[in-house]
Amino acid sequence: MTVEPADRTGTPAAPEVFAVRGDVVVPDAVVPDAAVVVADDRIVWVGPLQDAVAAGLGDVVAAAAEPVPGTLVLPGLVDLHDHGGGGAGFPDATTREAVMTAVLEHRRHGTTTMLASLVTADADTLLERTALLADLADAGEIEGIHAEGPFLSPVRRGAHDPELLQTGDVALVRRLVEAGRGHLRTMTVAPDVDGVAGPGGVAAALVQAGVVPSLGHTDATTQVAEDFVREVVTGLAESAPDLRMTATHLFNAMRPLHHRDGGPVAACLAAAARGDLVVELVGDEVHLDPAVVRSVIRTVGADQVMLVTDAMAAAGMADGAYDLGPMAVSVQDGVARVTDPTHPEGGPIAGGTSHLLDVVRATVAAGVDLVDAVRCASWVPAGVLGLTDVGGLLAGRRADVVVTDADLVVQRVLRAGAEVV
Ligand SMILES: [Zn+2]
Repeated sequence: MTVEPADRTGTPAAPEVFAVRGDVVVPDAVVPDAAVVVADDRIVWVGPLQDAVAAGLGDVVAAAAEPVPGTLVLPGLVDLHDHGGGGAGFPDATTREAVMTAVLEHRRHGTTTMLASLVTADADTLLERTALLADLADAGEIEGIHAEGPFLSPVRRGAHDPELLQTGDVALVRRLVEAGRGHLRTMTVAPDVDGVAGPGGVAAALVQAGVVPSLGHTDATTQVAEDFVREVVTGLAESAPDLRMTATHLFNAMRPLHHRDGGPVAACLAAAARGDLVVELVGDEVHLDPAVVRSVIRTVGADQVMLVTDAMAAAGMADGAYDLGPMAVSVQDGVARVTDPTHPEGGPIAGGTSHLLDVVRATVAAGVDLVDAVRCASWVPAGVLGLTDVGGLLAGRRADVVVTDADLVVQRVLRAGAEVV
């Protein structure tokens, strides 16, 4: 008996083969007037139109709609730091429906692979959320979970609840890993917090469990950050060589770089420049000056930078009042800040309100090459987690395809070959 793909009624069906046309952004180039050919959930061919006939795909390509000039075909984007959108946030989600509201808000805008990010909360809440999100990861809706906290510096807490920050607790790490059933993938930790760095610390336990420690929300000196990077990079090389260490939203919520006090930023830039670290940048024009995004990418290279949204529930929604875990957040003119009646401008920035494609657009507008900006939002983050099935328009990978106009406004999204609506 031969096994054939079945449609939803269970009837065996031939694989559906179709082409998507436009200027195709592959991992290291833009291929003008090209096509991506999809069969079922896979990309089976990518190349210039003129080569399609020789590849035996003349009919398939001829059947595809003629693209408007300037149409871009991008890989599905990969966001490793995202707390929610569409009015729902992962730190507050108690149902699968709420999780999916946020996931679909981003998926419709081109993010086909994401980690769901939590924020600092009490242990029971973290364990409950982790278990719920693990169900969605089992179902293939999210790639996994990013725990931002609770082992963060009170001095650089940003929008995290100071009452719930704690020193390193390896027992809690083990419980989270267990609740996540293999889906806890990254955790933001501060090496200057007791119990995080060093033998028997949180970072060592994470590495042991195959979870990426991401340096962030830290008041560390350059030396402490350098030592921590060395510790984690060495540990990952030994026990999880497919994973790469990251820094959580470089510059934001960390001691700033000063020429007489370099802080963690100096250490992170040096580590990235030598290929040891991938730095997150929230390139949404709110968290960072676009010129800083451009400068960092030019300094350390696109392969060491991943663009993220750090989005919260308000992504894709109107201004107003939202929650970010235990913290109340006010969004005004698209900028989310911790609600603080004592300050007219509000408290610290509390996540972003963009989709990752918006970040790519802003990064291109800042002067970064399109291929590099797309790479930082797809290929590089996929590589951080060792994913080889997503992150680039290459034959054999999952058919995650985003079609945009020349201004990077989304027009169509495919995930595993299926239309996202
Ligand atoms: Zn965050």
